[in-house]
Amino acid sequence: MMSKDAKIFIAGYEGMIGTALVRCLKTTGFNNLITISSSLLDLTNQSEVHKFFLQEVPEYVFLAPIKEGGILTNTNYPAELIYINLQIQSNLIHFSWEAKVKKLLFLGSSCIYPKFCPQPMKEKALLTGPMEPTNEAYAIAKIAGIKMCQAYNKQYNTNFISVIPTNIYGPYDNFDLKTSHVIPGLIRKFHQAKTRKDRQVIIWGTGNPRREFLFVDDFTNACIFLMNNNYNQSEMINVGYGKDVSIKELALKIKEITGFNGELIFDNTKPDGMPNKLLDISKINKLGWSAKTDLKKGLKKTYTWFKEIERLK
Ligand code: GDP
Repeated sequence: MMSKDAKIFIAGYEGMIGTALVRCLKTTGFNNLITISSSLLDLTNQSEVHKFFLQEVPEYVFLAPIKEGGILTNTNYPAELIYINLQIQSNLIHFSWEAKVKKLLFLGSSCIYPKFCPQPMKEKALLTGPMEPTNEAYAIAKIAGIKMCQAYNKQYNTNFISVIPTNIYGPYDNFDLKTSHVIPGLIRKFHQAKTRKDRQVIIWGTGNPRREFLFVDDFTNACIFLMNNNYNQSEMINVGYGKDVSIKELALKIKEITGFNGELIFDNTKPDGMPNKLLDISKINKLGWSAKTDLKKGLKKTYTWFKEIERLK
C-alpha cells in the first residue's frame, strides 16, 4: 500500500487523466502530491528532469499521457508524437530508477495492439502483427516505454508497471475538433449543431469501427488500485469497461444526450482507424476490479461538464 503521506509525482497532471488522478488521489486521502506545470519543467529535457528528481526524490511516479490525441493528431503529427513521448518516458523511467522510486506506473494505449488483433485483445497479443498505420508512431513510442519498464525491472529489480487503458473520456478532455478523440469531438459537434439549429452533423469514417470507452474516474480508480500493491508484475495489464459500441451507436447516444434533432452524415473521406478495439480485461477483473460507470451515465456527466465550461467562456 502507498502510505497517505507518500511523496507521489504525477507527470502530465494537466491532461484529462492526470487531472483525474490528482482528484482521485486527493479524495482517497493522499496528501503529499507533487505536480509541476509543463511551463516550469520541460519533461523532454534530460538535465531539467534529472535536477527535478534529485531535488524532489519522489517515492511513487504516475506517468499520465502528455502528448497524445485523436485519429487526426496521430495522422498529422507522427514525428512530434514519437519524439516527445520517447524523450519524456526515457527521462522519467531512467531518473525514477536513479532516485530509487518504489513503484512507477506507465500508461500505454490500446493502439499498441495489432490492427487485426483477435477481439477482445489479450495482453499477450502485443507484437503479434502489424499496427494500424494512422497511429503507428505513437504506438511504437508506447511499446518502447513498456519494454523499457520491463528492461529496468529485469536488470535493476525495479517495480515499474505498465497499464493499458482503453479509450478514456470525461471532464477535462480535449474538446478541440481537430485534435480530439471521438467522444469530445462528437459532444462539441452535436452541441454546436443544436445551438445553431443545424440540420446535420458530420461523423468521420463509416461509423462501423467499434470502440470501448471507459469513464476517466473509473480508470484512475483502477490505477490507484494497481499501484496499491494489487499488481507488481512486469507484464502489462489491460484496463477497460468490458463492452464496445460502434461509432454509429455512440453518435446516436450523444445525439440523444445533447438533444439534437437533425441527421447524421458519415464522411468516408476520413479514416476509420482500427476496425475494432476491445480489451480483454479478465486479468484485472480477477484481481477484483471492474468499472462502475456505464457509457450513458459517463456521457451525461461529460456533457454536463462541457456545457458548464462553454457557459463560463
Ligand atoms: P482512435 O480510437 O485511435 O481511432 O481515435 P478517435 O477516438 O479519434 O476515433 C475513433 C473513431 O471515431 C474513428 O473511426 C474516427 O474516424 C471516428 N470519428 C467519427 N467522428 C469523429 C470525430 O468527430 N472526431 C474523432 N476524433 N473521431 C471521429
